[in-house]
Amino acid sequence: MTLILSGNDYKYELEGVMKLFIPATKFKHIFADRIEQDEDEYVFARVKQTKNTILLYVICQYNGIKKRQGEILYKNDNAENYDKELYLSRILFKVLSDITGIKPKWGVLTGIRPVKRVNTWLNDGLGKEEIYQRLQNEYLCSKEKCDIAFATAMTQKQVLDTLDKKSFSLYVSIPFCPTRCSYCSFISQTLESGKKLIPEYIDKMCREIRHIGLMTKRLGLRLDTVYFGGGTPTSLEAPQLAAIMKCIEHSFDMSSVREYTVEAGRPDTITEEKLRTIKENGCTRISINPQSLDQNVLDAIGRSHSIEQFFSGFELARKIGFSCINTDVIAGLPNDTLDGFKNTIDKLIDLSPENYTVHTLSIKRAAVLNHSDKTVLNNPTDDMVDYATSRLFESGYSPYYLYRQKNMVGNLENIGWSKKGQESLYNIYIMEEVQTIIAVGAGASTKLVDHPHRLERVFNYKFPLEYNRHFDLMLSRKNVIEEFYGSTEKE
Ligand code: SF4
Repeated sequence: MTLILSGNDYKYELEGVMKLFIPATKFKHIFADRIEQDEDEYVFARVKQTKNTILLYVICQYNGIKKRQGEILYKNDNAENYDKELYLSRILFKVLSDITGIKPKWGVLTGIRPVKRVNTWLNDGLGKEEIYQRLQNEYLCSKEKCDIAFATAMTQKQVLDTLDKKSFSLYVSIPFCPTRCSYCSFISQTLESGKKLIPEYIDKMCREIRHIGLMTKRLGLRLDTVYFGGGTPTSLEAPQLAAIMKCIEHSFDMSSVREYTVEAGRPDTITEEKLRTIKENGCTRISINPQSLDQNVLDAIGRSHSIEQFFSGFELARKIGFSCINTDVIAGLPNDTLDGFKNTIDKLIDLSPENYTVHTLSIKRAAVLNHSDKTVLNNPTDDMVDYATSRLFESGYSPYYLYRQKNMVGNLENIGWSKKGQESLYNIYIMEEVQTIIAVGAGASTKLVDHPHRLERVFNYKFPLEYNRHFDLMLSRKNVIEEFYGSTEKE
């Protein structure tokens, strides 16, 4: 498929719209003022300026159908403010929707953080009605997606209002898992291949934690939340988890910490000793993720744990006293059915987790699933997500963060749901990019935020082996943090 651009260079935005209708296709793009005869399937997107008008139009030939649509804008004093990219995206969206019969519910809102836009409008003083109008008329969002984006922004507002500008979160990366799930694209090593690296990895990571502890003290930053992610942090043994958590306790003033999460994602890594260890060392929130409560589905995605292991892990966590548990599910997994997914949703609601995250399958290039038979993926993901949304709303949960990824089945979204007052602060901060997150460990990336003006990233080495080997060089890069805050002070 060729994208021919004339009088504009909105390649990125227009390709984003094309992908909504024609996924998994490579686009070629050229700049030309006319369509060459040998183009079979193409989008020709033109912006043409005359003395008094701006003409925007799209001609598309796809699936044996040819359509043309356009709009004329009259130049006036305001002409410079016309968002021509958005006009052209909308025209293209309508043309492709006519040809394919598909109506993506997020409209031309192709970015990954729709709620961020709503938050910006709220900060600009727009009311609910105006925001809905913009989402529906300018971005062609469906009413239900407006509802979910707006409700999410409302929940977030209460959390964001309590944000201390001199605070930060600490992310601890444990990139090891018992085995690899077929949909996974994270940088995570199986225990089998990574076991030898772990002792040195923990040693180095504790050095990094101490380094960050001293640095943030000098900068007068307060630790707000701690998040152990990965991988599966509970792949480590209890004494190893304790060593890292004690190192954090000794490196930071923990009195300001409002949330401490350890992902215990894979139920097959959970033991009583590990749960007690993380609780005794300050953890207030854990994640136990079944992804599905259908054993056929779990087997198809290589999770290598049973449904029973999930239930017993959950029960154990409650017995030990965890009062905030998150569970993750994924809509659109191989072998899943609408009834099977409904059953998963209902059974988890019966368990009453404080946080409930509904992901939509995203098939990244690095995932094993991307290279296997995709006919097993023919399930009604849209209906699954709709079912989860209505069941969670009626069960008293509110959406509190929402994001989208590339290559998501049905161009849908991931939504974090929460019982009132139990929203994960960290998840909101990371999604909305409103707080500095200093990350330690392999594959971790630090995000420095001076909201709303500046955002800078510092990357650690991706893999544990590189992390161990080039640790000192990597640590020296972390000086960027002091430079960032130094220049912020001066401003
Ligand atoms: S448990 Fe999570 S991080 Fe580990 S392989 Fe599975 S999806 Fe990837």
